[in-house]
Amino acid sequence: MVRINSNIQEIEGVGEKTARVLKKLGLNTVLDLLFYIPFRYEYYNLASEVDNVEVGQNIQVVGKIDLIKSRRARYRKMWLTEAIIDTGNDNLKVIWFNQPYLVKSLFVGQKIKLSGKITENNGQLIMSSPEYEKIAEDEATIGGDRGDNSNLVPIYHLTESHLSQKQLRKIIYSVLPLSQKIKEWLPENIIKELSLNNLSQAIYKIHRPENEMDISSAKKRLGFSHLFLQQIKFQLIKQNLKNKSADVIEFREKETKDFVNSLSFSLTNDQKKSAWEILKDLEKKEPMSRLLEGDVGSGKTLVVALAVLNVAMNQKKSAIMVPSEILAHQHYKTLSKLFEKYNFNICLKTRSYKIGDIKKADIIIGTHSLIADKLNLEEISFIAVDEQHRFGVNQRKKIIDKNRDKNRSPHFLSLTATPIPRSLSLAIYGDLDLSIINEMPAGRKKTITKVVSEKDKDKMYDFVKEKIKEGRQIFIVYPLISESNKLELKSAEEEYKKLSSTEFKDYNVKLIHGKMKKAEKEASMKDFASGKIDILIATTVVEVGIDIPNATVMIIEGVDRFGLSQLHQLRGRINRSNLDSYCFLVPSKENIKNEKTLTRLKALEKYHKGLDLAKVDLETRGSGEIFGIEQSGFFSLNILSLFNSNYLKKSRDLAAQIIAKDKNLLNYPELRNKIGDFKENYHLE
Ligand code: ADP
Ligand code: MG
Repeated sequence: MVRINSNIQEIEGVGEKTARVLKKLGLNTVLDLLFYIPFRYEYYNLASEVDNVEVGQNIQVVGKIDLIKSRRARYRKMWLTEAIIDTGNDNLKVIWFNQPYLVKSLFVGQKIKLSGKITENNGQLIMSSPEYEKIAEDEATIGGDRGDNSNLVPIYHLTESHLSQKQLRKIIYSVLPLSQKIKEWLPENIIKELSLNNLSQAIYKIHRPENEMDISSAKKRLGFSHLFLQQIKFQLIKQNLKNKSADVIEFREKETKDFVNSLSFSLTNDQKKSAWEILKDLEKKEPMSRLLEGDVGSGKTLVVALAVLNVAMNQKKSAIMVPSEILAHQHYKTLSKLFEKYNFNICLKTRSYKIGDIKKADIIIGTHSLIADKLNLEEISFIAVDEQHRFGVNQRKKIIDKNRDKNRSPHFLSLTATPIPRSLSLAIYGDLDLSIINEMPAGRKKTITKVVSEKDKDKMYDFVKEKIKEGRQIFIVYPLISESNKLELKSAEEEYKKLSSTEFKDYNVKLIHGKMKKAEKEASMKDFASGKIDILIATTVVEVGIDIPNATVMIIEGVDRFGLSQLHQLRGRINRSNLDSYCFLVPSKENIKNEKTLTRLKALEKYHKGLDLAKVDLETRGSGEIFGIEQSGFFSLNILSLFNSNYLKKSRDLAAQIIAKDKNLLNYPELRNKIGDFKENYHLE
């Protein structure tokens, strides 16, 4: 008998081959299948009068096959299977591509249900490549194999697996009754208070909703649990920190003023305010837990520098953690320059760099590997984690836990460019105090952004050459490092070879990507930073944090392959001074006419703030895609869309209440188990 923990192969109809495909999707057990949440739904109108349908509509029709045949297409080497369906009132033409075997299973006279999109060919409406279900002569026609009256069909992420939506749906439906066996872990009083679905119900409905209400109530429940669990984690961290003490860092007013006065620009008000809040926190014995939020290019690094300066003036150590080697190297250079006149020992430590001696260092800069290494946290008074959204709450917990002296903790500052409306940030980052930089440095202009098609490329290249003549530098970014057989995309390596010997043969062009050797990467970055290179051909290794103010033009090729948040980050690289900056977005051929792609790219032409783009991101994803979080840099907002802020506060308050009363969750065994599911160990006693 198939149980909830059974391996997928025990499910009837799942053979070895299908099992392999499912495993690739990360689905190993029945439970995995049940929690494989559809990312959207298609709404099929059962169209009795094909007359009224419009191009682009998804419809479902039931009818009899009047005619069906397969043939080779004349111009392309492709099989076409064409059919005429008699729907009772009208005829509908249907085309399938490259499925010649259909004629072996579908016959004239067969009753059939078709679900698909209406397209147009020479004025004739056609349903192309629909899904079909055969219907027995006496079967009720509405609902087909679902056995109910719903026309909402879940759509799952299948990536490149050789599995159809229909197949996966069938498998999931077959185990759906087992959803009753899913254990509830959300405390009952919370479920009651918020009138939530229980977990079994929510899972059932998310796969087989009867109406929109079912979808929204199921999502509400699943979304709420997600938030609540996050909040429980935050509260555990908070509890944990409360009992620890940090070094008191005295504010050195004179030295701070001197430093600020030595800069070539004056601080923005928000930078001052944020720095002030941080320096106040550092004066306390209680460890700081603060998030510094500011859009790309708003000058967060300088605020960190002010904190680091004060820590060093107190003869204490700081550590700065960043998500990439290139960024670590850059921060190292920036801080070395800023603190040129001071006698600070600055040390760079990543997998491939080792500059300076950690033992003697005042300031340590590094990547993740800092955590993995034997960095002695007891000696560190202040840690700044740059681009926090890349690390996440688990990472933070790990750093805190790494401290061997359980009574001590460094002061903590997380930095993020992920936009969050202020009213909601408290609820999302439950345990963090918040400083926000809302204003850009004075004189910063918007980056002029344009979608460019292949035929306008010459003009674009002329413009680029013009800018190089003016002394500016250029980024050209590609989605791939090297050529791929699977994807018809341009790659950095190939295009580097091509462009540096043709279009830009008279210029200094260099390449940078993640798979290059450290020395090569370094050389490229160094030469670009010093202005020796005119054009840097790159992958997204330049996405985060890179700061080269003289580079003011960016061409992004295959731009449809990137998420909006990523593009916003990329574009942030070229707007770091008062110079005019230009960003050209070049979609790949296959998507140049794709509506969704164009909507997203137009948004970049129009909007320049992370928050505005996050909203567009949300809209174009559709409300269905709450669980596509990982791909969207804007994750918080995606989940947020499901809730009003009351709900968010609620999840935070409820989590706080529970942890305050029962921090080991002894009265909540299922919740305790659930927390244990996470990879990180939360050290419940
Ligand atoms: P981010 O917030 O994205 O980390 P950075 O800290 O890298 O931004 O700052 C972006 C650029 O702006 C840097 O070149 C920095 O020197 C410059 N900058 C920072 N603060 C100011 C300011 N108040 N006025 C002018 N330029 C500034
Ligand atoms: Mg930065």
